[in-house]
Amino acid sequence: MLPFNQSELSHQKALSLFPGGVNSPVRSFQSLGGNPLHFASSKGAYLFDVDGRSYLDFCSSWGPLILGHQHPFVLECLQRQMNCGLTFGATSDVELQLGECVQEFMPQLELLRFVCSGTEATMSAVRLSRFLTGKRGLLKFSGCYHGHYEDFLVQSGSGVLTQGIDSLSSSSPTLVVPYNSQPPVLEQVLEEHGPSLAAVIVEPVAANMGLISPEKGFLETLRSCCDRFGILLIFDEVMTGFRVHPGGASVLFGVQADLWTLGKILGGGLPAAAYGGRREFMSQVAPSGDFYQAGTLAGSPLPMAAGLATLRVLKEEKGWDRLERLGVYLDSLFEKHLPDLAYHRVASFFSFFPGLKRIPSCFEDLSDLDRVKFQRIYWSLLNKGIYLSPSPYEVNFLSLAQSKEDLFFFVSSLKESCKEIKVN
Ligand SMILES: *Cc1c(COP(=O)(O)O)cnc(C)c1O
Repeated sequence: MLPFNQSELSHQKALSLFPGGVNSPVRSFQSLGGNPLHFASSKGAYLFDVDGRSYLDFCSSWGPLILGHQHPFVLECLQRQMNCGLTFGATSDVELQLGECVQEFMPQLELLRFVCSGTEATMSAVRLSRFLTGKRGLLKFSGCYHGHYEDFLVQSGSGVLTQGIDSLSSSSPTLVVPYNSQPPVLEQVLEEHGPSLAAVIVEPVAANMGLISPEKGFLETLRSCCDRFGILLIFDEVMTGFRVHPGGASVLFGVQADLWTLGKILGGGLPAAAYGGRREFMSQVAPSGDFYQAGTLAGSPLPMAAGLATLRVLKEEKGWDRLERLGVYLDSLFEKHLPDLAYHRVASFFSFFPGLKRIPSCFEDLSDLDRVKFQRIYWSLLNKGIYLSPSPYEVNFLSLAQSKEDLFFFVSSLKESCKEIKVN
């Protein structure tokens, strides 16, 4: 094993402070059969641990760092904001600027509300759907993750899947259906349960069970059935927002939701999220309506400034085009060097699936995923200076700080690791 002496010391201390030594489960490396690294600093495409080792980072803090670590313009805007004030507990112009910027990319958010985490955004969108429809039921898809609100934690992706926890029993009121269910099946379920369903919530590209694209007709069927049966459609774009397309998944696939949630990139590495949608729905939120939702630090100036700076750089530097070019190059590397490893990419998301013969189209297709092989690949890559998202179910991220050389180094290292442990 590697001499992670300082990380090990820090981890032992952390165990006496935090449950499992962490403040979010997947960080614990439990599913990888080891202890987590502790990090000291970061820059560009790299993370530096407390033992002084450096790692090419594909976790990107789980998505927010689409520009890479410590982007100079983001830091400059944060410094400028810090000189003006950390928080006012009142509305400030930087909220308006980020709000306008979001609307420029996603005009479908006619009204929006800033909150502090993705979970708050999805939870609020579901609560609002219940308020608007007068119904309680919720339908989600297996393997999709929408945060840690009770109603989402049934057959959930991300850490729930990684840790093998399912906190809701089969008595859960949430209805769960496989991702990419065929249109006739979906229609039947939605017709049958329509009278009790307030909302259908979906990741329009599923990125919390590896990476799974919606098949043609899936999102379209959800849209038409929600209209027919009086159900609100929520696109959880906490992952996909500002990543799969400047206008989000709705624009990429040409399907509109009723409510959207955003997070991750929205805060540029600081905690910010949002929910929004049609004016007639969002105008029910207090104080313009009677749906109560509030936040002490909602719209706080620093996350607003970091998000705004991130979106400005993405726009001015044609970030999405550059990321797509990196992605196409990554595809060509996988095809050339690892043709037998199941690999999938959408925009600047990618996943690979040891043990699978083809890329999955729903959570149920992941049953043959070889978690032991993934573990061994993981530690081997870490040893070579590459930090992936620490779970086979978590997606990996390209960032603007990475170069073609970085991607070449990654794929050739992965090829070596696979050879060492005889994967494919
Ligand atoms: C990360 C994520 C969330 C939860 O966001 P937090 O900020 O971690 O609460 C919700 N939905 C999706 C799709 C996510 O990827």
